[in-house]
Amino acid sequence: MADISSLPLPERVDVLVVGVGFGGLAALHRLRKDHPGLQTLAIERAEGAGGVWRENDYPGAACDVPTSLYSLSFAPNPDWAHTYGRRHEIHNYLRSVAADYDDQIRYNCALTAARWDGSAQEWVVDTTNGQIRTRFLVAAPGALSEPGLPEVPGAEDFTGTMFHSAKWDHTQDLRGRKVALVGTGASAIQIVPEIVDTVGHLTVFQRTPAWVVPRLDRNIGPMERAIYKRVPGVHRLVRKMVWAYREAYVLMMARNPKLLPIAKTLALAQLRIQVRDRSLRKRLTPDYTIGCKRMLLTNKWFPALQRDNATVTGAITRLTANGAVDDQGREHEVDTVVFATGFTPTEPPIARAVTGRDGRTLAETWQGSPRAYRGVEVHGFPNLFFLYGPNTNLGHSSIVLMLEPQAYYMSKTIAEVTRAGHSTFEVTQAAQDGYNADLDPELERTVWNSGGCSSWYLDSTGRNSVMWPKFTSDFRRQMASFEAADHRFDDAIPAVTETVETTAADTDPERTLAQ
Ligand code: NAP
Repeated sequence: MADISSLPLPERVDVLVVGVGFGGLAALHRLRKDHPGLQTLAIERAEGAGGVWRENDYPGAACDVPTSLYSLSFAPNPDWAHTYGRRHEIHNYLRSVAADYDDQIRYNCALTAARWDGSAQEWVVDTTNGQIRTRFLVAAPGALSEPGLPEVPGAEDFTGTMFHSAKWDHTQDLRGRKVALVGTGASAIQIVPEIVDTVGHLTVFQRTPAWVVPRLDRNIGPMERAIYKRVPGVHRLVRKMVWAYREAYVLMMARNPKLLPIAKTLALAQLRIQVRDRSLRKRLTPDYTIGCKRMLLTNKWFPALQRDNATVTGAITRLTANGAVDDQGREHEVDTVVFATGFTPTEPPIARAVTGRDGRTLAETWQGSPRAYRGVEVHGFPNLFFLYGPNTNLGHSSIVLMLEPQAYYMSKTIAEVTRAGHSTFEVTQAAQDGYNADLDPELERTVWNSGGCSSWYLDSTGRNSVMWPKFTSDFRRQMASFEAADHRFDDAIPAVTETVETTAADTDPERTLAQ
């Protein structure tokens, strides 16, 4: 496929997709399938596809969701080598899916600003490669690509090397180094076992211990892969079974927290078996309800923390020229600091760059507490779809199962709007408020809200603006239809003219969405 990235951007397209990870690819697929008549282009700030799986290339990066759920329904992958995919496998998979869309993707092209032009009824998008206008804007920036770096006092005095887990500095040879690792989240528990035997000394700065359950990972051998490839339906059946078993987690986390002790028993058993030292075990035992923060899956974290060259200490409070000071005031000599401190999903940078109908940016509209209608539409932002938006994240299953219904909804909305001859659509404030008024009580009773922890699920106002509190099938059903009554339309200028052909599959969301 010819590389079109160096070509100048067209002046105008019908649909512009921003970001080429799972979300952007799901959008490109639906648009090509359902709207071949629309001119669609995607821009991606990096030199290749992959989103979060391109960005996060730290040692040990892997997925804690089974691979059978970690592929797009239109691009099944019978070739996964492990039940839990390694980062490079997932990245390669995404690149291979993206290759089919190369003629529609401009890489190394970042959105710098986008504003709604009310008179022309289109988005004006500034990019690092020039300006482009588009009728519909599909933002698919991902939620976990923008590093959250804490401001540690004394950082300016530190003479060593510092980097974030999602911006791993591969020029640094960690052999023999005195490394400080800050954080005990999903990234940290993958990095530590991978580097502990290489570094000179590893000091883990733990602010809050994590609930850790065993990961039952295994290789998928050539015979099994051949069956998935050649025997019709088997791979799909396995996917269905894993999906059903993962859905059961919702019962624990969001419906009936009384079931959580099952997971807690498993986590405590692993801790007891793997950590014999009582005082260390106590320090590694969380005091909040399991599931409140993301439950971590690994068998390697506790053994790694007990290596002779590893120390677990309290939260980092400041840096000195050659060290890091913990919450007991002890200084640990370090020459490298790795911040595995997570991301900023409730304050995504793109929200500061997108300006809506009334001249306010998404960030100004949200004021630190993102809200949307069905996760994808925001009042005041006509003709915009925000994939992986507010309240669409999962604690139990694959985000791919949430992104494909969003792409489906985007495509269906464009179809309905163009079929009705409208040029713009916008969700009403009442519909958006009503949607969130229904969602908030559901969130209140989940373990994420009530489990006694702080996490990236809760925004600066304390609202859970990240998680979806129901089954993925509920979300899929919700995204299967477009409610005209929840929208206002503005038809000042002629609409995009396109004949929308609806295929039988399109009318069957169960068939076309996610599974
Ligand atoms: P995270 O879960 O947000 O964890 C960040 C860690 O850094 C926490 O231990 C946190 O401590 C600590 N931290 C943050 N700010 C700090 C500060 N100022 N001082 C001291 N400690 C601080 O981030 P993550 O591990 O990168 O994971 C983020 C998300 O990415 C996950 O929840 C998951 O959804 C996704 N992820 C997925 C996989 C996968 O296998 N699929 C792998 C990696 C990441 P506190 O707990 O005290 O706040």
